Amino acid sequence: MNTETTEQRLKKYLAEIEKNDYKGKKINAFLELNSRALEEAREIDEKIAKGRAGKLAGKVIAVKANINVLGLTASCASHTLEDYKSTYDATVISRIKEQDGLIIGMTNMDEFACGWSGETSAFGATRNPCCLDKVAGGSSSGSAAAVASGFCDIALGSDTGGSIRNPASHCGVVGIKPSYGLVSRYGLIDMTMSFDQIGALARNVDDALLLLNVIKGKDEKDATSLSSEEIKIKPVKNLIIGIPKIKITDDRIWRLVKDKVNKIAKIKGWKIKELEIKHIDLGVQTYYPIVFSEFFSGTRKFDGRRYGKKIEDSCGEEVLKRILGGEIITQAEFEGKYYRKALSAREVIKKDFEQAFKDCDVIIMPTTPCLPWKIGSSPGMEAEYATDALTCLANITGLPAISIPAGKIDNIPVGLQIYGKMFDENLIFSVAKETEKS
Ligand code: GLN
Repeated sequence: MNTETTEQRLKKYLAEIEKNDYKGKKINAFLELNSRALEEAREIDEKIAKGRAGKLAGKVIAVKANINVLGLTASCASHTLEDYKSTYDATVISRIKEQDGLIIGMTNMDEFACGWSGETSAFGATRNPCCLDKVAGGSSSGSAAAVASGFCDIALGSDTGGSIRNPASHCGVVGIKPSYGLVSRYGLIDMTMSFDQIGALARNVDDALLLLNVIKGKDEKDATSLSSEEIKIKPVKNLIIGIPKIKITDDRIWRLVKDKVNKIAKIKGWKIKELEIKHIDLGVQTYYPIVFSEFFSGTRKFDGRRYGKKIEDSCGEEVLKRILGGEIITQAEFEGKYYRKALSAREVIKKDFEQAFKDCDVIIMPTTPCLPWKIGSSPGMEAEYATDALTCLANITGLPAISIPAGKIDNIPVGLQIYGKMFDENLIFSVAKETEKS
């Protein structure tokens, strides 16, 4: 039986953070700690003692710095918003608090969630806890590293093109990008509205599921959110796994993932089917014009009058590139050329996946096409953008996808990604759980 109180648990995590993380030390996962956490932990313990605590009682949760938590700083790891204290709780945060989850602090990330490695943060890169000279992945770098380092139990991240799954893969933890609409985006600072979803990172499938079940569901404040039933892990029988043909930078990753899938399929009696998904290689080309256009329009509110500084004067290179690029491609004379074209391609890719799911129940592939690079030695712009190739497909289609650890190459974690049909979180969690057990 676990006799540890929330207060003791919090203190244990704070001691770890004090030793290995905070204020630029070693990992650099946290940007801010919740100064009321101890008080809140005691309140939660009192509720536990009275038998009145919620589903998350005892869990210590970190939050990506682009989600509003009343009184804490939603800086998006940018100088633009570095002094911006949230004046309200995002819906996911109210739900966590209602269920007595304890918020420990705000985590580092790529600036405004634009990136792959955590290196675009204005407050320094996050180190990968499994291999300290490497990047943690991004953009939810701090959330993944905090979970992997044992600084908290679970973390919230946001995923626009892979930002939960990519760092989960690189840091060897579980990361879920839910179906579009499963979780309210109210209180999340937009990166690309039509792709963004909030999700969970955790050390195991059960904890990721626990948090997702609390935060999901219809919210009057987000018209794209939908009501849904509790997600449950169930025994998986007669499963057909689709394995798509894809190009991948590092063959060792595909081999490792395929080996893992073959092994579990054999034990469980699941079938494997090779898939030809027609436009699967067009993800990145489709994703970026939409990101640039929507990001440009979303950042117009940061004009220095209402929130923080004027973004163009205070942001880093990657963010500026997207704002200027977005401004150009949304000009009237380019109408139809980029954004519209990308939207049509998006529909085509959606149809391709619908078609693929007629032949299988889940699709499995690696999470990232390459291993994390050394901090400060980016492989170049094209290679950086290409790291989204296998994750952005879930955002383009709206489908749910979960990344779980598949093994290691040269001692570096490698993630395996399970895609499901729209709102079929039950199945991807069930398959993830069986795979984790094996
Ligand atoms: N790497 C992708 C990008 O930079 C995804 C970011 C994200 O999911 N927030 O756009």
